Amino acid sequence: MKLLVTGGTGYIGSHTAVLLMQAGHEVVLWDNLSNSSARVVDRMAMILRERPLLVIGDVRDRAALDALFAHQGFDAVIHFAGLKAVGESVERPLLYYEHNVQGTLTLLQAMAAAGVRLFVFSSSATVYGDPASVPIREDFPRAATNPYGRSKIIVEDILADLITADPTWRIARLRYFNPVGAHESGLIGEDPRGTPSNLMPYICQVAVGRRPQLRVFGDDYETPDGTGVRDYIHVVDLAAGHVQALDYLVGKAGLLTVNLGTGRGYSVRDLIASFARAAGRPIPYVIEPRRPGDIATCYADAQAAQRLLGFRALRDLDRMCADAWRWQQQNPHGYDG
Ligand code: NAD
Ligand code: UDP
Repeated sequence: MKLLVTGGTGYIGSHTAVLLMQAGHEVVLWDNLSNSSARVVDRMAMILRERPLLVIGDVRDRAALDALFAHQGFDAVIHFAGLKAVGESVERPLLYYEHNVQGTLTLLQAMAAAGVRLFVFSSSATVYGDPASVPIREDFPRAATNPYGRSKIIVEDILADLITADPTWRIARLRYFNPVGAHESGLIGEDPRGTPSNLMPYICQVAVGRRPQLRVFGDDYETPDGTGVRDYIHVVDLAAGHVQALDYLVGKAGLLTVNLGTGRGYSVRDLIASFARAAGRPIPYVIEPRRPGDIATCYADAQAAQRLLGFRALRDLDRMCADAWRWQQQNPHGYDG
């Protein structure tokens, strides 16, 4: 198929585009480079020995999208483009709704006008808010605790309404848990701008000497060791889930909603220990108060993805840390370092 991958130079988009191309699809990347580097494309070309086309553009720009769709006969769109920092979304809600909601709406309108009706959307486990129990199933109630999460719920609802109005659409709402790690080549990986707010990139920067120590946000949660528990999933497994979701939608019109996680939870201390083993050096850390808005435990019920897509995460926590470390060691300052 010929695919448009929005946010294609970003962390998850770049890994997914590599797997999509390796699965035989033709890929065009669409990104405004607000949170990524065009150098990603050189690295993807080194992995693939083939260069994906990058078109610099914004999903809020209807005229540019119309021109793109008129030029390229796309079969489907995989939509990663958007803003994802929870704290920033609290400070700048309108910006988040503009990129994540209006941007997606504009993209869907351009798709509808061009007659492209296969869409894969990056949703998030954050739509479950603070779940009443774990593991989290797809039919659990959704409850956003911040504008970022609410933007994901709004788009999920828009997509459901779209299918109701026109059942010929084929739409996947993929709820990611905590993507970490990097491609095994060490050529592409996560390269956050500024101070990382997520755990794994922060640990990577401590290990490589860019930051003195990790701050562990709370050790008094009701978890086995007191630190927060999350479902970390290797980004390449997550990427493979997109290839499988696309295959599923080719065979079946309608709405697919699945968690993409491993179904296992690991604590902050587990991650620190695994990373220290991978890097062969200790990760210094201090315990600090809980981060506002954090929940104790979050992990997926991964059975629906297995049943519907045949999806199963293959890479364990040690592998996630080893691959993250390889990427960080080879690129201590990221793509532009
Ligand atoms: P990322 O920031 O690395 O990638 C997003 C890409 O979108 C960036 O390259 C950025 O430049 C681009 N972009 C942003 N706004 C744009 C716009 N208006 N037009 C065009 N391009 C734009 O983030 P990521 O981690 O790869 O996340 C990809 C998607 O997955 C996002 O929608 C995010 O909300 C979702 N998600 C991420 C996580 C996570 O922990 N990384 C978890 C759940 C869901
Ligand atoms: N965390 C931490 N120190 C950090 C970043 C995160 O202790 O510098 C903890 C956080 O409290 C949570 C876990 O690590 O328990 C995962 O946080 P992250 O921000 O990576 O993901 P999310 O909060 O979205 O699940």
